[in-house]
Amino acid sequence: MNGNILNLHYDCSPGQVLRDPEFFTKKVPYMKAAGVKTMWLCDLVYGRWYGTAEDISRAKKMLEEEGFDVQVITVPLGHGSNALNGNEPDPSLPADWKNRVDVNGNRMGTTTCIDDTVIKWYRDALEIHKELGFTQVFHDDDLRLGMFGPDLQGCFCDRCMNRFYQAYPQFDGMSRADIVRLGTPGSEVRDAWETIQCDSIRRFVRETTPEGMTPGVMVMHCGDRRHGIDIAGIRKDFPNALFRVGESHFHDGAVNHPLYPSALKRGISKHLALIGSVENAFSETTTYPVGALSPENLVKKMKVEIECGLRNIFLMGGNKFYTDDFWEALIAARSELEELAASTPLPVLDGTPIEDDFIWHG
Ligand SMILES: [Zn+2]
Repeated sequence: MNGNILNLHYDCSPGQVLRDPEFFTKKVPYMKAAGVKTMWLCDLVYGRWYGTAEDISRAKKMLEEEGFDVQVITVPLGHGSNALNGNEPDPSLPADWKNRVDVNGNRMGTTTCIDDTVIKWYRDALEIHKELGFTQVFHDDDLRLGMFGPDLQGCFCDRCMNRFYQAYPQFDGMSRADIVRLGTPGSEVRDAWETIQCDSIRRFVRETTPEGMTPGVMVMHCGDRRHGIDIAGIRKDFPNALFRVGESHFHDGAVNHPLYPSALKRGISKHLALIGSVENAFSETTTYPVGALSPENLVKKMKVEIECGLRNIFLMGGNKFYTDDFWEALIAARSELEELAASTPLPVLDGTPIEDDFIWHG
């Protein structure tokens, strides 16, 4: 990748491609005019296919005929809240999937513990995608074992507790609450607990990615080992892995917060330092719920992301297509954004970590 070139990405469902009567007459021209080059088809959500393999293959081919590169994006484990569109019921997990359990022993609805069943489901689904010709898969930012926030988290279900006790007999029998209470930064128990959680996600990525495909992990905003996300570990397993630096700020309230843009910049910079390359880093640039971030603020946020060194801008639409005003703002700003990308020096990524913690605000 030429580091000065801006690459725009967008996602949609196979159903939108196949059944939206305006998709090719209106939406494709919008996306092309805005500079979108790669389309990510979202068809695997919490253990459910959205479209048959034939639908997905047809949608892929139709988008390729329009000149897009086409890849796949999943929502693998569930967000623990209705994180789709606010007015839709939470999807229910397959009966044989187990919810994550919090530190108090409570089941967390619409989140998933990573176990053999989940791994097999995604391995089989992604094998089919490989056969359909996909070469990259991104997993949305629910590929984690904790909610947003600075606390030590993870899955505290009986199975995960037993894995922890077996791997670290010195902590056998330590209560869930004591793991968090005694797991202060730098402590042995914290490192052990984080390693168990991070190993779950590393195993998911290792065992679900078909040979020859490149995995991508959309790192949650301010996500790190506290949430089971070990960027360095995933890079060891897949040196070419893609990462989205999860920078949040999906609505005008967050963008108008006094800690913006310092929180956004810190989040991008900390993740970029761990990723080690601009080529493998992606933004998340979206409005959530739909329309909560104004088109003007979306473009302003893109400028901050470009200035921080991001050249892959992932315009995520959730499962609603951006409305016309967003595309018009993006098209109007395209030249300015491309010039900014061309003229802004890229950050030096020499492996030096950024020690300062993330800046937390909702
Ligand atoms: Zn568990």
